[in-house]
Amino acid sequence: MPKYIFVIGGVMSGLGKGVTSSSIAKLLQLTGLKVTCAKVDPYLNVDAGTMNPIIHGEVFVTDDGGETDMDLGTYERFLEKNLSRDHNITTGQVYKAVIEAERRGDYLGRCVQIIPHITDEIKTRIRKVAQDSDVDVLLVEVGGTVGDIEGLPFLEALRQMRLEEGASNTVFVHVTLAPVLDAVGEQKTKPTQHSVQELRRIGIQPDLIVARCERPLTLETKEKISLFTSVENKCVISNLDVESVYQVPQILYEEGVVEPLCERLQLGNRRVNWDNWRETADSYTNTRGVVKIAMVGKYVSLRDSYVSVNHALSHAGAKDGYKVNVDWVDAERFEKQPESVNVLDSYDGVLVPGGFGNRGSLGKIMAADYARRNTIPYLGLCFGFQMAIASFARYVCGLKDANSTELDEDTANPVIDMLPEQKTVTDKGASMRLGGHDITVVEGTLAHRLYGSLTIRERHRHRYEFNQQYRAILEQHGMVFSGHSDGGRRTEILEIPSLPFYFATQFHPEYVSRPSKPDPAYLGFVRATIERQASKTRSGSNTTGSALAVSRS
Ligand code: GLN
Repeated sequence: MPKYIFVIGGVMSGLGKGVTSSSIAKLLQLTGLKVTCAKVDPYLNVDAGTMNPIIHGEVFVTDDGGETDMDLGTYERFLEKNLSRDHNITTGQVYKAVIEAERRGDYLGRCVQIIPHITDEIKTRIRKVAQDSDVDVLLVEVGGTVGDIEGLPFLEALRQMRLEEGASNTVFVHVTLAPVLDAVGEQKTKPTQHSVQELRRIGIQPDLIVARCERPLTLETKEKISLFTSVENKCVISNLDVESVYQVPQILYEEGVVEPLCERLQLGNRRVNWDNWRETADSYTNTRGVVKIAMVGKYVSLRDSYVSVNHALSHAGAKDGYKVNVDWVDAERFEKQPESVNVLDSYDGVLVPGGFGNRGSLGKIMAADYARRNTIPYLGLCFGFQMAIASFARYVCGLKDANSTELDEDTANPVIDMLPEQKTVTDKGASMRLGGHDITVVEGTLAHRLYGSLTIRERHRHRYEFNQQYRAILEQHGMVFSGHSDGGRRTEILEIPSLPFYFATQFHPEYVSRPSKPDPAYLGFVRATIERQASKTRSGSNTTGSALAVSRS
């Protein structure tokens, strides 16, 4: 019978609830238990796909094509395994299922209500995740903060689960904040007290409190929290600010989170076997160099909009002992001041990530062109792949105004066009080409050297693709298409072999990158940036253009 850990946030958002949840799950995984995580999101969207990444953060795509909350990415990275779309349960999905059942007549004669129908649907979905993934422990993180009106049905469902599954099979973890406001450095416990009161008001008594804090909670603070919340002293855990998120499992371990969890869940005396995890975590802090990357994009206002890209870069850097610093460069600035594109000279690499719509697209085309002309390592991801093609078609092949039909429907040279099956799509939700697809890599190419394999699997999220009518002309000018899918109908990878590193993918390699196993596309890119930096240092100049070795797999 699976055990459940419910993680509920208090005080405010942004306390790293996803990382805390993932770290707890990781620790239990390291004790040899089969563990997985799920996220419940109390919004009415059926999935995260239709939400704005600037406000909500990145849309994480699972292998089975789910467009999910970005916390699923955190779980995948910590647990180092793939999750399915079912691991993200939203209010939208729950109500949709209940209303559809009502229309079918499944509840004929009855009044359909939040309790029990909505709460039953929530519980069924949570239990299904545990069963389908065949785990010992399912950790369920609740989106939002206690006190949110929209979160109430979820918390009520979890309260009921405690009753139904029993106290030895369920644990409530409350994630809060212990801020320090004065010069004396007193850790304030009142926010935690209040948020526990709010939880209790709806019938949930937390078993553990994990309080985010700058410095470890003092004994006095722990005692005070314990007294006011009826949570045992040893179950009040400090969650310190750290340099790398991958250190959090260790921090929580040292704070003694494992023992009370195992005790409550009657999991016996379990020992954490650190395997390679400690080494992996250390590689993010013991770095010997830094490379600087320009991320040219539109969603520059929220770092979370490209959280997986940032992680994938750091995974690749850590492999070679490098920290990767990412500067967000606003693509629209290049459009307004074309000469400002030379700011890219001061970077070791240029990355154009995924994106949608016209705004900033010309700036991205300019960045792709500038990187090519100045042999700056370039990595294009999805939209960044498409913009690299438009740029090459325009400035190398002389195809005037070559563009994507997403940006200019009437372009004379539609080098990027809508996928044929997308032309009949009317709904926006979950209708792109999504998830994992197998890709055939062309032998002897950079892609082949990087991946070390002729078949790979990567995740997608797009409506547009390379228009193969332009393949011959682009190839004649030196672009190589080194990955294909769907029996050759889709173009997945491009490269320019005459350059040190110019590589772009229609897929999103960031979704499969893991802390100890970076995706080869990112690894190749970051290695090329390290090489460029080294060669600049060797030549004692800041000029570009030296011939660099590129292929290392
Ligand atoms: N807007 C482009 C498309 O739909 C690229 C999408 C993306 O970058 N994820 O094809």
